[in-house]
Amino acid sequence: MTNFNNSKMNVDALFLGPKSENAVFFKEMMEYAVTEHMHWRSGYHPEDPEYVTTVDRYAPDYRDTLYRTEGILNQLSSKLKTTSIPWFSPRYMGHMNADTLMISNLAYVMAMMYNPNNCAQESSPTTTQLELEAGLDLCAMFGYDVNRSWGHITSGGTVANYEGLWVARNIKTLPLAMSKHPQAQHLLKDKTERALLNMPTNAVLDLIDELKKKGIFEEVRDMTCRGEGVEQGKLGKLLVPQSKHYSWLKAMDILGLGQQNIVQLPVDDSYRTDTAQMRQIVFSLIEQGEPILAVVAVVGTTETGAIDNVAELIALRKECESRFGISFYIHIDAAYAGYACAMFRDENNQFIEYDMLIQRYHNEGIFPPDIIWPKRDVYQSFRALQEADSITVDPHKVGFIPYAAGAICMKDKRIVDLISYHAAYVFEEVVEKGRKTEKPQNVLLGSSIMEGSKAGATAAAVWAAHRLVPLNILGYGKVIAAGLTTANWLIESMNASAPLEIEERKFEIVAMPAPDFHMVNFMFKEVGNRSLEKQNQLNKRLYELCSYAAGRSYTNDFLTSSTSLTAEEYGDNPQNFCRLMGFSDQEWEKTHSLYVLRAAIMTHCLRDKQHFSDFWQELKGIFVSKLQQLIDEENKVTHSKQKITL
Ligand SMILES: *Cc1c(COP(=O)(O)O)cnc(C)c1O
Repeated sequence: MTNFNNSKMNVDALFLGPKSENAVFFKEMMEYAVTEHMHWRSGYHPEDPEYVTTVDRYAPDYRDTLYRTEGILNQLSSKLKTTSIPWFSPRYMGHMNADTLMISNLAYVMAMMYNPNNCAQESSPTTTQLELEAGLDLCAMFGYDVNRSWGHITSGGTVANYEGLWVARNIKTLPLAMSKHPQAQHLLKDKTERALLNMPTNAVLDLIDELKKKGIFEEVRDMTCRGEGVEQGKLGKLLVPQSKHYSWLKAMDILGLGQQNIVQLPVDDSYRTDTAQMRQIVFSLIEQGEPILAVVAVVGTTETGAIDNVAELIALRKECESRFGISFYIHIDAAYAGYACAMFRDENNQFIEYDMLIQRYHNEGIFPPDIIWPKRDVYQSFRALQEADSITVDPHKVGFIPYAAGAICMKDKRIVDLISYHAAYVFEEVVEKGRKTEKPQNVLLGSSIMEGSKAGATAAAVWAAHRLVPLNILGYGKVIAAGLTTANWLIESMNASAPLEIEERKFEIVAMPAPDFHMVNFMFKEVGNRSLEKQNQLNKRLYELCSYAAGRSYTNDFLTSSTSLTAEEYGDNPQNFCRLMGFSDQEWEKTHSLYVLRAAIMTHCLRDKQHFSDFWQELKGIFVSKLQQLIDEENKVTHSKQKITL
């Protein structure tokens, strides 16, 4: 891998900026992107005639078409300006959105002009290569061996999760298919159904090699579920944490595996998968003879940013293998926090030791001295990612790349053949100067992934971002640290703030305890209020006032998102926090839900303490005015009620 040394990278120079501070440069580069393409066109076979002449261009209908084009763009622009969400501003603290990297926006536009289709290399000779490179960048970041792994871009984390489950499903049925094939049977050591349904991923992939040598791989593959369909309930259970993204429900539905075969792993009071209960559930499934289709861990949950203990999951699989001879597929849903793996890698892509890491963060100004990140078990989770079979990660979240850019990385690229529709197409072995190398040639991504036609421009955007902002401590590390720093300061400030006073009513701002990543869940609590229902209503109304629902995103002075932490998803864990806020257990029993405001803090603009303090003062003022608005509304309602009773 490239030896990056980018200690001079300036975070502010990466983004257009909230005031378009980099306008001149950005415009220049945008013009460059478009002009270059126009030269490319005009330089192509200059001997060809001009099909459209100056005279043609003065025809009334020609002029009219251009006028209308302009008119429609005016309309579109005005629509976009009135109702779009200002991600670029630190005033937006909601979903995992922020300003996107200039390099990616420019690379996207530049490549888009050529309209490459990454379905097949034939229609994207340049950008298919960029996609494979960008995929390997991510594999390297996770600690996969780049000579054995592979990764590619998807439309998002949802499709990446589908694909993870797709390979897990197909791999599960290969040994079964082999046991039914007369020439494949003898390759299996243990032919009991229990053994066939619980093999380690690696062992099944080795069998694929054997089948290929015998020339019967494709025949056997037709006998897996991809040819014969999924037998009801046969493939066992998918274990996902309660905190899962709902794409897992869709995945089980779409892949014919059935949502009822999901076993939800309870979370602990830090909203991570409860590892003790996970162990118990896994052991009891083994005892019942129920196969485990796959276990999913989430690195950065969508609602609370919790990072599951990946190291414990990996250890559990090892234990199951040695104690019971039973293995299972492990997929990591790191759609949200996956890019943070860059924070642990040095300029040579080595995973930095914990103490050294904290030292470097502070010595090199990546974190200010008062911020200690990460917790040790979070560190261990990132370190253990390299042991997982596949990983979902979203460049369009913490990669700061425009939509639609998700990605999936797979530890062992042999797995692709289980879903591929063109044998050995992605990794064709070529003999070059007597040396056998694998060189992607005539790559047909469309035949080895879930999607078909797709924008090569996305690949260019991701690839270019990785070149400018390397996936290490000094590249993405710096950018992500800015948001983490702000998140930590924000939590501190909220919890230290005196109650806000409006018309003799007092409101506290409470943030949930330090999250694993930069998702801040917070709420307002009226001092003296004992009703959880009223508490939830207050925050729901505040959300409405601070979101696109208020109908005026552009003029709104603060925007956030929200969610409900319910007993259904999180058991009684939110109760702990309710107690801390002074709500009785009966109140929790009544509502079984805690409504919170939810802010993924990704802004790079508040990493300076002074900027942050100024922003926080401003924000408190905004909170006061929102609460005032809410009280005015309440007063109006009681006022009109009184009128009616009179
Ligand atoms: C966002 C997210 C997804 C879905 O990703 P999309 O890019 O929206 O399709 C899946 N899992 C987790 C944990 C996420 O945060």
